[in-house]
Amino acid sequence: MSDKDKIEDNEIIEDNGDIDGKEKIDNKGIVDEKGQEEYEDICFICHRPGSKAGKMIHIPNNICICSDCMQKTFDTMNHAGFPIGDMGNFGNMPNISMINLTDLQNMNVMPKSQKLKKKKAKEEKKAKPELDIKSIPAPHKIKASLDEYVVGQEHAKKVMSVAVYNHYKRVSSDEQDGIEIEKSNMLMLGPTGSGKTYMVKTLARLLDVPLAIADATSLTEAGYIGDDIESVVSKLLAAADNDVERAEHGIIFIDEIDKIAKKKTTNQRDVSGESVQQGMLKLLEGAEIEVPVGANSKNAMVPLATVNTRDILFICGGAFPDLEDIIKERLNKQSAMGFHADLKDKYDGEENLLQRVEVEDIRKYGMIPEFLGRLPVIFALDALTEDMLVRILTEPKSAIVKQYQKLLAMDEVKLEFEEDALHAIARKAKKKDVGARALRAIIEEFMLDIMYEIPKDDSIGMVTITEDYIDNHGAPLISMRGCPILPGAAGA
Ligand code: ADP
Repeated sequence: MSDKDKIEDNEIIEDNGDIDGKEKIDNKGIVDEKGQEEYEDICFICHRPGSKAGKMIHIPNNICICSDCMQKTFDTMNHAGFPIGDMGNFGNMPNISMINLTDLQNMNVMPKSQKLKKKKAKEEKKAKPELDIKSIPAPHKIKASLDEYVVGQEHAKKVMSVAVYNHYKRVSSDEQDGIEIEKSNMLMLGPTGSGKTYMVKTLARLLDVPLAIADATSLTEAGYIGDDIESVVSKLLAAADNDVERAEHGIIFIDEIDKIAKKKTTNQRDVSGESVQQGMLKLLEGAEIEVPVGANSKNAMVPLATVNTRDILFICGGAFPDLEDIIKERLNKQSAMGFHADLKDKYDGEENLLQRVEVEDIRKYGMIPEFLGRLPVIFALDALTEDMLVRILTEPKSAIVKQYQKLLAMDEVKLEFEEDALHAIARKAKKKDVGARALRAIIEEFMLDIMYEIPKDDSIGMVTITEDYIDNHGAPLISMRGCPILPGAAGA
């Protein structure tokens, strides 16, 4: 095969590739010719997108190579003295082995999706902002939507709604008048299971923005074992279907932020504490970050995309155990001065001391001032009370009780919970000290027998869960279709 033949061969393959491209499922899983136009190919070797590298040559296995890299490859082979026209002889040459691209795919070194959504031209973006101020719901509307899902936490919902509203206003504002609105990144404090993650998830769903949830415990300074700090942006890009523009308006929630507090006594480098806080500074403020597309870590095989974090809303959350002691100490110190000094144990029995938190307390806990300066909105969630737990069981749109009622309704059986039974479940959950998370496990345990026994008997019309059943002193009340309620046998 001559050089010319080879090039012609490439062109044929390229044509096939184009046809392939149209039929291929894009990374949202939709076969869409128009959708394909919005994504551009990335060179497998130099990682430049088609808009920069020019024409792409498609080779089998959905791999694209730009003409520059293809040319360089041929030049290198020429200099090495390979008879390019006689490709079939490679197998016989000493010390030369061809890479089988299928093997590469099997080795999982290649990202699943090698396509990147094209960025729109700057001018176009300015003319029509993606998030129009008019389309951003007012804070009271955001809170009203949150109310449908999140029980209680009135203060937190209010603060969050205003912060989100301001954030997206800031995103859509121009800075021509020289007034730059500061970012409203948030720091959320609250005991475990009080709904921190749930609130952020609900918010992102309501606003229809991509959300990435990361755990600060796994983050370490670049170069050490653990996840790089920038990996959180890469998660967001994945959540936005590799659409850089969408990712740049998304939300990143970093949980367990208290785990990166400065270590108190250490002679070693604090790679998972203070250094992570330092590393996060530029991310929180706004920086251009190069993130791998379709993979977790940067390596030679993965194309990179540049994401600007300026308009990404960062929400950090943590339980901050022992922070209450620091708050108590400060309050005691304040009240122990002067003629009207209070008793030292005045705040010992106080619930929700976290609500009285001040920046100074969190700094004492081990968060560095620069880090806290970039999280201007600080608020605390209430610890869940028995009444709140009962409401969580029954009130939200997809409350657990409603879910079970729906399941049994499919068998034409009505499920009722006595008020006392709900309180008994809430009391049990409160003892476990893991917030609302315990509810599901407890109710699941009691419902097992019912879900097993009821479908056996077609004549059962209604089941009532009683406090005695929850306390293991009796059985649920079963009523047959068209008969009065009887103490039943299920689970007894
Ligand atoms: P954490 O504060 O530890 O992040 P989560 O947000 O994960 O807690 O809460 C665990 C579960 O508890 C959620 O999935 C949600 O179903 C439920 N939950 C917690 N708080 C509330 C609340 N205030 N309203 C409704 N459901 C809640």
